[in-house]
Amino acid sequence: MSSTESTDRAESGERATQTVVTLDLEGVLIPEIWIAVAENTGIDELRRTTRDEPDYDVLMRERVDAVNSNGLTIHDIQKVIAGLEPLDGAKAFLDELRSQTQVIILSDTFEQFATPFMKQLGWPTILCHELVIDPAGNIIDYKLRQQDQKRRAVKALHGLNYRVIAAGDSYNDTTMLSEADHGFLFRSPGNVQAEFPQFPALDTYADLLANILAVL
Ligand SMILES: [Mg+2]
Repeated sequence: MSSTESTDRAESGERATQTVVTLDLEGVLIPEIWIAVAENTGIDELRRTTRDEPDYDVLMRERVDAVNSNGLTIHDIQKVIAGLEPLDGAKAFLDELRSQTQVIILSDTFEQFATPFMKQLGWPTILCHELVIDPAGNIIDYKLRQQDQKRRAVKALHGLNYRVIAAGDSYNDTTMLSEADHGFLFRSPGNVQAEFPQFPALDTYADLLANILAVL
């Protein structure tokens, strides 16, 4: 726990008794969007994800360059997304979890990509980023709402005197998991598990739900 966080909590006066669960999106509730786009378009450069590249800015710059050099527009990508569904069992898991506690999805995806999935998941709250798109539909840039947004969201919830339980699969989740009161890796690759052995690594929705409920 950081000293700032302790101050935030101290200011709120009382020990937190209410809990918010923060969940990553891609790899936890839905498939990796960029991998689906890579498979549909045959653009191999789009196969790299946050599981492979720890620096999200580096990864996104590569993706925007690859999309543009191959002439893909947001409409092409949205066509791919329209054919995707949440992971098997994700909706039932999320529904059950939301019946027991508040859930916020913290994702480094973009509003333009996330909306079709939020509809399929029953419109949970999501905090993410946005793409900058020109009138012709070209993705000209991406705008991260703020750096390290997942960790900062957890910190802000602590400032509101909530306990936070977090789950995610990749490098871009690990600061969120560290900041949270309890952090779980879910369906994470071996390299992430090896680097972050302090977080229990779980693979099924039943296990994730049981572990979250146990510390709720
Ligand atoms: Mg993920």
